[in-house]
Amino acid sequence: MANTRRFVLIHDQPNCIGCGACASINPKHWKMNDETNKSFIIDGEFLPDGGSQRDIDDEQFKLNKEAAEVCPVKVIHIKEKSSNKQII
Ligand code: SF4
Repeated sequence: MANTRRFVLIHDQPNCIGCGACASINPKHWKMNDETNKSFIIDGEFLPDGGSQRDIDDEQFKLNKEAAEVCPVKVIHIKEKSSNKQII
């Protein structure tokens, strides 16, 4: 069976301004950290730069595309795993 999680959701957390828009529009995948006042990806893997990432499927792609679009500083990205191409 093919891996259905064919995208990677990535948060460039150092450049997040903590506006809360992602967690507001997509509380299934995004949450605010009360200590840092920045968001993070729920069930994500934390990265050395403080960001996080998580593999996502097509349905999750749609939800997170919306989150990426509302982010005022464009620090939410989605890559296609097979090509490593950044879609957003
Ligand atoms: S919408 Fe963007 S800037 Fe606002 S909390 Fe989410 S990732 Fe950070």
